[in-house]
Amino acid sequence: MSIWERRETVEVLFDDVGVGGRNPVRVQSMTNTDTADAEGTAQQVAELALAGSEIVRVTVNNEPSAKAVPEMVERLHDAGIHVPIVGDFHYNGHILLAKYPKTAELLANYRINPGNVGTTRRDENFTKIVEIAKEYGKSVRIGVNWGSLDQRLLTEMMDENAKSPNPKGAKAVLLDAIVESAMRSAALAEEVGLPHDKIVISTKSSVVPDLIQVYRMLAPLSDYPLHLGLTEAGMGAKGIVATTAGIGPLLMEGIGDTIRVSLTPEPGGDRTEEVRVAQQILQSLAIRSFEPQVTSCPGCGRTTSTFFQEMAQDITGYIRERMPEWRKHYPGVEEMDVAVMGCVVNGPGESKHANLGISLPGTFEEPKAPVYVDGEHYTTLKGKGLVDEFKEILDAYVVRTYGEVREGAGASA
Ligand code: SF4
Repeated sequence: MSIWERRETVEVLFDDVGVGGRNPVRVQSMTNTDTADAEGTAQQVAELALAGSEIVRVTVNNEPSAKAVPEMVERLHDAGIHVPIVGDFHYNGHILLAKYPKTAELLANYRINPGNVGTTRRDENFTKIVEIAKEYGKSVRIGVNWGSLDQRLLTEMMDENAKSPNPKGAKAVLLDAIVESAMRSAALAEEVGLPHDKIVISTKSSVVPDLIQVYRMLAPLSDYPLHLGLTEAGMGAKGIVATTAGIGPLLMEGIGDTIRVSLTPEPGGDRTEEVRVAQQILQSLAIRSFEPQVTSCPGCGRTTSTFFQEMAQDITGYIRERMPEWRKHYPGVEEMDVAVMGCVVNGPGESKHANLGISLPGTFEEPKAPVYVDGEHYTTLKGKGLVDEFKEILDAYVVRTYGEVREGAGASA
């Protein structure tokens, strides 16, 4: 049983996908195609959904993109993909949603950035979007981003702070303003008549300690579900580590009902990486399970050949390849742990903690590989065919453990 306890929130529906309440922490992603290209966007939404994204956001930044949404959704439905689509609106959402009612109807949720709804007619534009959401029964995400914070509100709060006998630092006022912007916008949305359970909030920053602090300030103020993400996380390892460092502590404190990992892909890179990273964060924190985990040691001077790395890679790849089939027939298999260890120093111990484990012989050790199943020594493999033999043991374990015993059980959240 996890030590994890979730903050209590209302459930907000994105079509038929629930966020908050008793729902699992949802994985979201966002396309980077031109939404006006209905075919290309539908293709990428499908890839993201098939990778496990439960909600996909698309930018709706101009008339061609607003016009293309119905065709994009139709293409997805024709392909059997029914993932909720969020429209990301800035500056002109009130115009686009009014002019393209079919788009307003087909989107599951409208993301509104209160800092980007206009300057002179800010509240009026915000109200128009909320009224359209109300008309179509849609939810909204009030997505405050520190890079586009409502400057009028910030100036107002800075002025008030300057007059205070104990003024705070500029950073503290900025974080207060982010939270204030989100809460005031949510209150305005409810005043306009949007039901309480149609609102999700996010307050993103690209600085990890600020992100953590701002969500800690925000969480106790309401029971709106919160969307978490480190905005503009960056590329590769930096983006993954910074996002994990930011949203990991919040998730462990029970804060966060849906997450997105905002990685910058390499040119031509795979957009679905952000989905896999989000899933891995949730699985590493024992919040949700998506695929079996392979525990492998880093290797050291005791593993001087590449055989160990190749085996760890081979088994990880094999599990990934088998998962679409296993997921259908062996519910619960995503919770399986497999240990692939480089030598007997930590190998048997780690193997005993896993469902299945193998320890290779380190350099100069006797050429044999003990295999453990459910904590007990099962067999010892030798020779060149040991990887294939281990895969056979793995296949048999999956059938035996998740086929017969858990027949009829639902897939893990
Ligand atoms: S298990 Fe063995 S090979 Fe792996 S890091 Fe530890 S000592 Fe090195």
